Amino acid sequence: MRVTYRLSMWLVAGNCLVLGGYGALALQREISTFRRTMERDTRSAGEALLLLAGERWREDGREAALAAIERSSKRHSELSFRWLDGDELRTELGGGLGEGGLGAPHFVRSPTHLRAFVPFAPPHGPPGALVVQKSLGRDQRYVRRSLARLGLTTLASILVSAALAAGLGQALVGAPMRRLVDRLQRVGGGELSERLDLDRRDEFGALGDAVDRMSASLEEARDRALREASERAAALGQLRHAERLATVGRLAAGVAHELGTPLNVILARAKLAQRQREQPEQVVAHTDTIAQQAQRMTRIVRQLLDFARADESRKAPCDLRELTQGCLDVLSSLARKRGVELVLVAEEGAPLLADATQLEQVLTNLVMNAIQASPSGGAVRVEVARAGDRVELIVSDEGPGVPPQLAERIFEPFFTTKDVGDGTGLGLPVAHGIVHEHGGTIELVESEAGARFRIVLPAREEVRG
Ligand code: ADP
Repeated sequence: MRVTYRLSMWLVAGNCLVLGGYGALALQREISTFRRTMERDTRSAGEALLLLAGERWREDGREAALAAIERSSKRHSELSFRWLDGDELRTELGGGLGEGGLGAPHFVRSPTHLRAFVPFAPPHGPPGALVVQKSLGRDQRYVRRSLARLGLTTLASILVSAALAAGLGQALVGAPMRRLVDRLQRVGGGELSERLDLDRRDEFGALGDAVDRMSASLEEARDRALREASERAAALGQLRHAERLATVGRLAAGVAHELGTPLNVILARAKLAQRQREQPEQVVAHTDTIAQQAQRMTRIVRQLLDFARADESRKAPCDLRELTQGCLDVLSSLARKRGVELVLVAEEGAPLLADATQLEQVLTNLVMNAIQASPSGGAVRVEVARAGDRVELIVSDEGPGVPPQLAERIFEPFFTTKDVGDGTGLGLPVAHGIVHEHGGTIELVESEAGARFRIVLPAREEVRG
């Protein structure tokens, strides 16, 4: 993680600067203190020796004093003493030394040694100086050790601070940052249902909450858009279907209207010809056929007109049980001819506000289909019942039923499985249109044997309860 890495680097650099600067200053101070101590010790050693040597000088003369100095020099391993006369001193220290000799102790430092020139005026003779020479080996070792200590301390501090910065940076910045980036990449890829739940009270927590809120609202917007798109597609489909039906309806109405008048004429003339006396038998048979077929065509035209439904429905209070009873009465002779029994099951009245003629049409279409599908000896059952604010009508038969693969198509206009001339494929679409116009539903429901159609219509309000 780059931020963590950079943070660590900056911390380490800052640490280096502070610790290094402080260490260098402390080292310098220590070295200068150490040097001053060393100069003071060297000078003190010289002065102490001079006390002793001065006394010898006075009592036993110069040679005895110099011998004492030499003996002292041999006894010390780190210090060596040597006497310098005025001239020798001048040669050693170079110019600048006045006639009165060295006024105060003087120090000369070389990389390996420290020399202290301690001035002394012997009782007899010119002033000179005792040179105390001290090896700087220890001094250098001390400086080297201090430098090493400083280096080690600084290095340890850098390592510790780098490790801390890396660890903390990783825990406090790196890890949440990685989760945020990962989450945002998933959001970009369309994965909106996950939540981050960082559970932190810092800026990352706030950022995580904001990302969670953002994905939630994006998810909501996407779901809404998908819902709207599918609703739009469904509405479009329905619109297209309705448009298609309307076109077919207009076409059917036009054809039916045009055919209606000539068909009436044909029927009227056929009937006229039938009434003529002394017709040859063959002619009577032909006119009979013409009249029958013309009647059939009139029925088809009637159905087409029903499907196109040019007429407005005129709703009035009526009772579904009575309508059904009337309809079954009309169809009973046809049923009898085919050996089919019609059964009405209706325990109570079923009040409606409906166009009675149109509902009769629906009932006729359903019961006719049921009779046609029934085997001889079978029964067609029509049940009328009230269910709360609805009225239910069920027409069931004992025929072969509707094959599942056709169930979806039976309400389509002109869909028929009957022979040409027997079916128009308009009975169920007409029933469907009328029922829907009355605010109800019609469907083919599952049954163990035969076909079973159920119609549900709103009951008449004022009678409810
Ligand atoms: P049509 O009766 O002129 O064929 P419909 O729209 O009334 O037109 O019916 C469409 C089709 O639905 C029929 O051709 C038939 O296949 C099927 N159908 C309708 N009622 C029944 C029924 N009671 N039993 C079996 N199939 C039926």
